[in-house]
Amino acid sequence: MALDAKSRPNDLSAFWMPFTANRQFKSNPRMFVAADGMYYTTAEGRQVLDGTAGLWCCNAGHKRPRIVEAIQAQAAELDYAPAFQMGHPRAFELANRLVEIAPDGMDHVFYTNSGSEAVESALKIALAYHRARGEAGRTRLIGRERGYHGVNFGGISVGGIVNNRKHFGTLLTGVDHLPHTHIPENQWSRGMPELGAHLADDLERIIALHGAETIAAVIVEPMAGSTGVLLPPKGYLQRLRKITQDHGIVLIFDEVITGFGRVGAAFGAQRFGVTPDMITCAKGLTNGVIPMGAVLCGSHIHDAFMQGPENLIELFHGYTYSGNPIASAAGLATLETYREDDLFARALDLEPYWQEALHSLKGARHVIDIRNLGLIGAIELEPISGHPTKRAFQAFLDAYDKGVLIRTTGDIIALSPPLIIETAQIDRIVETLGEVLAALD
Ligand code: PMP
Repeated sequence: MALDAKSRPNDLSAFWMPFTANRQFKSNPRMFVAADGMYYTTAEGRQVLDGTAGLWCCNAGHKRPRIVEAIQAQAAELDYAPAFQMGHPRAFELANRLVEIAPDGMDHVFYTNSGSEAVESALKIALAYHRARGEAGRTRLIGRERGYHGVNFGGISVGGIVNNRKHFGTLLTGVDHLPHTHIPENQWSRGMPELGAHLADDLERIIALHGAETIAAVIVEPMAGSTGVLLPPKGYLQRLRKITQDHGIVLIFDEVITGFGRVGAAFGAQRFGVTPDMITCAKGLTNGVIPMGAVLCGSHIHDAFMQGPENLIELFHGYTYSGNPIASAAGLATLETYREDDLFARALDLEPYWQEALHSLKGARHVIDIRNLGLIGAIELEPISGHPTKRAFQAFLDAYDKGVLIRTTGDIIALSPPLIIETAQIDRIVETLGEVLAALD
């Protein structure tokens, strides 16, 4: 078949969509054809207010001129360069800009193309780090219930989402899970909840069970995003840090969602006042525009590899597109946009308004909990008995019809608007949700 021949009409079934009810979608497709600032434009020409920053990634809003121009200019100058044994300036520049905004001591950047790959890379670096130091017995990995760490095999193994794991066989062995931090005592808490720091102590139980000398790393989202915005109780992350440090265990924060201003600081690590050994990030790194992820590494991790003869490869790991020039240019322009608009501080400034607005929905029909931090929030609905997810999904469809994009996970509505949002737009999201909830079965 000649490449220029269109042998079939544009059949929607050709694209097998990810994490989508494909048959439902294709009978009633929702298509975006353009985006600008806080709004998407649908195929029907409607404007939809973006309450989710795409998929928690377009933190500076859409179609930012600086980012668009940087991508265009980079494509015209150096489109691609090999990442193995070769370099190009943009990747090094971006690494330095990232180190500048990272927590102190996180001085090295390993590039990937997504959050999932950042997680796999961080887990592999943790395992190889212990080997490099002569502790090859440290092979166990510890994640957390309701943790989301992407969809590759390492990530779903340390992740704690049943549906993401149960269809795919054995997964990695030697993995344990800490309990999640979402406890009923903290219902309706504003910002970080008071109770539950002791949940970190479960790590001591796992250490006692297997021996610290067998444990390589603990990976947690400092604030779990994808499973419904589960906040760390006050003191919890500090306790996790202390226990991991005391036992020589690498602590990885998966900041794919919490990175780049979402919680009112460059990274959650800074907002929560806890520095891990590695941070995984993606999404907001390029404002979602070009796929890119990264692992930010503490010097002690990186330096453990920098021994032996200089001409030897230190880490046998990497991707064809690691530090891709166009992605790097997009990342540089994105960080510059965040800086110019002071968006991380803006998220923090807007937090009280956001919090009040969200919590005004307490008492709305079906609402059983509301949670928030920075410019992220969750509204949990009482599930319809026997039909979990149905009520929230209907809210998603109804809000979309009313011109507001929300996201749902289970029966939880998750909100994470671009950090450029105005207070009137916050009001619009909350008013729309109020109407939607009032009309739901
Ligand atoms: N880790 C976390 C904490 C995430 O929220 C996500 C994506 N939502 C990922 C990893 C995976 O990122 P990606 O979809 O870019 O692979």
